[in-house]
Amino acid sequence: MFSLRPRRLSLANTSAPLNADLHCHSTVSDGLLAPEELARRAHAQGVQLWALTDHDELGGLAAAGAVAGELGLPFVAGVEISVSWRHETLHIVGLRIDPHHATLRDGLATTRSGRTRRAREMAAQLAEAGIPNAFEGALNYVGNPDLIGRTHFARYIVETNRCDDVREVFSRYLVAGKPGYVPMQWAALEQALGWIQDAGGVAVVAHPGRYKLNDGELRELFAEFQALGGAAIEVVTGSHTPDQYRRFATYAKEFGFLASRGSDFHGPEESRYDLGSLPPLPDSVVPVWHDW
Ligand code: AMP
Ligand code: MN
Ligand code: MN
Ligand code: MN
Repeated sequence: MFSLRPRRLSLANTSAPLNADLHCHSTVSDGLLAPEELARRAHAQGVQLWALTDHDELGGLAAAGAVAGELGLPFVAGVEISVSWRHETLHIVGLRIDPHHATLRDGLATTRSGRTRRAREMAAQLAEAGIPNAFEGALNYVGNPDLIGRTHFARYIVETNRCDDVREVFSRYLVAGKPGYVPMQWAALEQALGWIQDAGGVAVVAHPGRYKLNDGELRELFAEFQALGGAAIEVVTGSHTPDQYRRFATYAKEFGFLASRGSDFHGPEESRYDLGSLPPLPDSVVPVWHDW
């Protein structure tokens, strides 16, 4: 089948590690900055290779890529797909995807389609827990009506002074066992990898240290991901501790995965790491961009 392989990127060729940031969010999903603003911020922060990876959405890529192009910032089209695997929700990042590919676009549209109903159920639960009008409140933070998610609710809960920050919300609300949690059936791992590969992209397990999976379960996930054609895992991400950088570098070597690096930046006041501000990948791993 004809494949739209992106052309070669011209990446800075120095002995210093490349400042690549391959994971962040715009207002098209649950970030606080528009795609154009993010591109300018990435450039100003010294990022040398940048990907926008909105949740289940490709709508910000054209604007982000256009501004990155004007700034001479090498840009990669990305996406972060919500996946249900066993009892966990996983996030699979696709990099260097063709955003026009129909299979990927249709798959993501299906993945997004349950979000509004889920949000209504979340709001009903929150009302019972003493937080009325959360659907309308969350909508005020939504940049894309197709993509209402937990972060938008979390911002509303902070606005109403029930929690000090979004992080606190995710310990008291919106997670399993707490008010406002509505389980979702997201895409299957096999589907997400199929869409990414059909669109010519590379699949990456996002923030693997964040899942409630023990070592044995993680190995089963990695083996299944690899068998489905998955090529990389995030090693240095805003969701990992330095101990986890080392731990996941070891998994990457063991499985022969390439390693990715991304801040998972959502917004200036909200995110621990700004674009391009994480430490470099450990020397022992092969960067996912090594042959780009
Ligand atoms: P959703 O796709 O609607 O289930 O929302 C998932 C998003 O919620 C993630 O991408 C994060 O932006 C946010 N999130 C989940 N857990 C946390 C947490 N512990 N702290 C901060 N944000 C979180
Ligand atoms: Mn998010
Ligand atoms: Mn994620
Ligand atoms: Mn993310």
